[in-house]
Amino acid sequence: MLALIEAKRDGHALSDEQIHALVAALTAGEVPDYQIAALLMAVVFRGMNAAETRALTSALRDSGRQLQFPRDPRPLVDKHSTGGVGDKVSLVLAPLLACLGVRVPMISARGLGITGGTLDKLESIPGFRTDLSVDHVVEQVQKIGCVISGQSEEMVPADKALYALRDVTGTVSSVPLITASILSKKLAEGLDCLLLDVKFGAAAFMKNQAQARRLAKTMVRLANECGVKTRALLTDMNVPLGRAVGNWLEVREVVECLEGRGPADLEQLVVECAAQLLLQARRARTIGNARTSAREMLRSRKPLQKWEDMITAQGGDLSAYHDRLRGDTARVSVEIHAEASGFVNQCDARLIGEVVRDLGGGRMRKDSRIDPWVGIDRLAKPGDRVERGGVLCRIHANSDEQAREAQDRIKSTCKIGKRRQRTQPLIRAVIQ
Ligand code: URA
Repeated sequence: MLALIEAKRDGHALSDEQIHALVAALTAGEVPDYQIAALLMAVVFRGMNAAETRALTSALRDSGRQLQFPRDPRPLVDKHSTGGVGDKVSLVLAPLLACLGVRVPMISARGLGITGGTLDKLESIPGFRTDLSVDHVVEQVQKIGCVISGQSEEMVPADKALYALRDVTGTVSSVPLITASILSKKLAEGLDCLLLDVKFGAAAFMKNQAQARRLAKTMVRLANECGVKTRALLTDMNVPLGRAVGNWLEVREVVECLEGRGPADLEQLVVECAAQLLLQARRARTIGNARTSAREMLRSRKPLQKWEDMITAQGGDLSAYHDRLRGDTARVSVEIHAEASGFVNQCDARLIGEVVRDLGGGRMRKDSRIDPWVGIDRLAKPGDRVERGGVLCRIHANSDEQAREAQDRIKSTCKIGKRRQRTQPLIRAVIQ
């Protein structure tokens, strides 16, 4: 280990053999945390070249079990998002794609900080299980076409160990480390096609478009070299996606989207993700055809049925879920009203994410418990016209005091002007 740390510290490239030996020792628990931490910090400063990043990715992927599917004409596809506020795309996309004739073995994560997690959202559904075994994942995909579950202990264990250390040593933000971490998990799913949604902006990992593009290009190149047809979208995360942020509130918005009455930005991103994957999987001839198929399928309500099939297949209690859809959320719910008529010109995703996290909807630490019922919905977004006294958003909290505090913070971020300012497009580029 010492030789590896010193080599990286001095700016040398590590060989394939060195990287594979390192990951084997890490998986066996033979390397002390302080040495791994030192090596990670050296990588943050010195970087890794393409060959090193590739070796690290494949060594991490091979550290555990991989999904193996029977031969089947339906291609295996997945989407990964680098994370944001109000991002519930995966929950709509998985059943939609399954209805469009592809298989979706989606292995997802929990939220941390202001970034919401797909698993946390799903776990607000009574009985829904996200700790499925590898065999259950494969069986469910074969049977209904989609699954959304967590990473089991058996899959990519070396990334789990590495990520836990990165999280507490300031070594998350490194393009090669992020690339290897994300792609090792996606490659272990045995995919044919992958779409990466790389977000940039105030509430994203990558603060600007140039950084996001660099990460997207690195991941797209490497995943394609590893035999998975991969593209990336660069999408804006300065404004929350949709009008609901908070675990159960987002599930309710997912259902609205599956009923064909979801917010426009959410539907646009879902349709684009589905279309890009259909094109990659050769299930459509042009992107225009693919978008039309995805949009029409969403309107057909078949994905809504598939969503309920997925809930049942993963242990969810459909009748309790339907009761909850009709019922209340947290103990206190308060509307914030506009003090003047005009156009919403600002709605800061970072601040909204922090407010929801502080209401209890997000985690400060990996092991914190979250409250599925709190959050914000009916959120007015940039470009919306509001009248004086109209609703800017609704806060769901556990106490009046919490709600009041959230109210003051939200008022500072929703800026209303006389003129409608130009809003930025949500999807900025496709990286192939
Ligand atoms: N998500 C991951 O899984 N790994 C990273 O390194 C960053 C985001």
